[in-house]
Amino acid sequence: MSNYKTINPATGELIREFGALADSEVEGVLARSGQAYNRWRRESVERRASVLARAAELFEERTEELAAVLTEEIGKTLAAARGEIKTVIGIFRYYSTTAVKQLDGEELDVAGPGRARLRLDPIGPLVGIMPWNFPYYQVARFAAPNLLLGNVIILKHASNCPQSAVMFESLLRDAGLPEDAYINVFASHDQVAQMIADDRVRGVSLTGSEGAGARTGELAGRHLKPVVLELGGSDPFIVLEDADIEKAAKDAVAGRLVNNGQTCTASKRFIVVDDVYDEFVEKFVGGMSQVPTGDPTDPATVLGPLSSESAVKDLEEFVADAVANGANVETGGERLEGPGSYYPATVLTGVTETARAYREELFGPVAVVYRVPDEQTAIELANDSPFGLSSSVYTSDVDRAERISAELEAGMVWVNSVSKSSAELPFGGVKRSGVGRELGEVGLTQFANQKLVRVF
Ligand code: NAP
Repeated sequence: MSNYKTINPATGELIREFGALADSEVEGVLARSGQAYNRWRRESVERRASVLARAAELFEERTEELAAVLTEEIGKTLAAARGEIKTVIGIFRYYSTTAVKQLDGEELDVAGPGRARLRLDPIGPLVGIMPWNFPYYQVARFAAPNLLLGNVIILKHASNCPQSAVMFESLLRDAGLPEDAYINVFASHDQVAQMIADDRVRGVSLTGSEGAGARTGELAGRHLKPVVLELGGSDPFIVLEDADIEKAAKDAVAGRLVNNGQTCTASKRFIVVDDVYDEFVEKFVGGMSQVPTGDPTDPATVLGPLSSESAVKDLEEFVADAVANGANVETGGERLEGPGSYYPATVLTGVTETARAYREELFGPVAVVYRVPDEQTAIELANDSPFGLSSSVYTSDVDRAERISAELEAGMVWVNSVSKSSAELPFGGVKRSGVGRELGEVGLTQFANQKLVRVF
């Protein structure tokens, strides 16, 4: 029996189930992928880029159909689903245009006569393991640079977004990608482990939780394969006394609730200096308590359901534990009655170091707000986390923000803005948030053979 199924989280209804990959099929997938690599890597760069350009067009043409699937499978609001597809279009366009010149390789300064060049060559079939929260975007930021480079992909998507997985694969096929250069597999964890171990596979990229990242990183290490891990986050959102509090509070609501609160780079820990704490909390709690919540297909909805029942149960446990350890619930805090996996926008204050919410990632619409005496304590609290993905700093003094950004243990710092993603900007974290970077120029180098050619 396959785990790959669509259950509409707004209703709890089972929509569709998909058959699992049989153990006997794994060898065929690896063989086909290896053969496809030998052909795809020899295609011209122009041909590879043209497939990506066509994929961007198809994402544009099929936006409504693709967005409806996201809403049905994971409860993403339709507006957010369209936004995700827009970002995907940007990624395919970037790697089919701007990034192409990177493939020419870089001329290096040499000591002595002759010249040296660093080529970017492909390395082979890659395994991608992706999560459900941005089913197209997560795959696009791995697939677009690697297909441009000449690598090919075996993709294992999350078990709760199989329709999105199938639509992504067929869109690439329709864009002209040869069969087997991208193979979607409804594989088990053991089958994925078998693929990673196989000599034909040359690298692995996982976006997901710390646990899955650690297991995949361990396997990749054992088999000496390069790995990119994009994992969880508990991003700090620092508000200083010279910030525009009105804007900070408004952004805080949007930053916490992006994608129904289920985003790795959502703002999760709000660290506010004493002078402006009361004003910020009043405005933030006011905003969170009025968020239109409900049917994700309704254009007025800002907060839809969580992706699954287990996601609601996880949040309930986090909140109960925080309260048992001394926290106050300023708004929300109880799951919504009726069908569907709904949890309201929630704000906790007074969270203590003994609570799980202090250290672990809250993957849903629950914000934790801390009061700190000054900037230095804000930085220390921001860094007192196992994670280091993104972060936000709100201040009217840009020099001060630059100084603080040097102190933050995070892969990204956004000043007077919540964290966002864009094709040309690198994305990734430090500490337990992962290894490596995606997007931008660096995205093209993660699974490239950066090959030295020295000519005399
Ligand atoms: P997850 O449970 O780790 O699942 C992610 C993917 O990994 C799924 O395809 C899952 O497959 C697979 N997987 C899990 N364990 C595996 C194993 N032992 N071997 C092979 N595959 C395995 O994560 P999630 O709950 O879906 O996603 C939420 C997490 O992802 C959060 O922590 C979030 O912050 C993080 N995330 C990070 C980024 C980033 O860019 N840094 C972006 C988005 C999400 P199954 O579904 O079949 O179990």
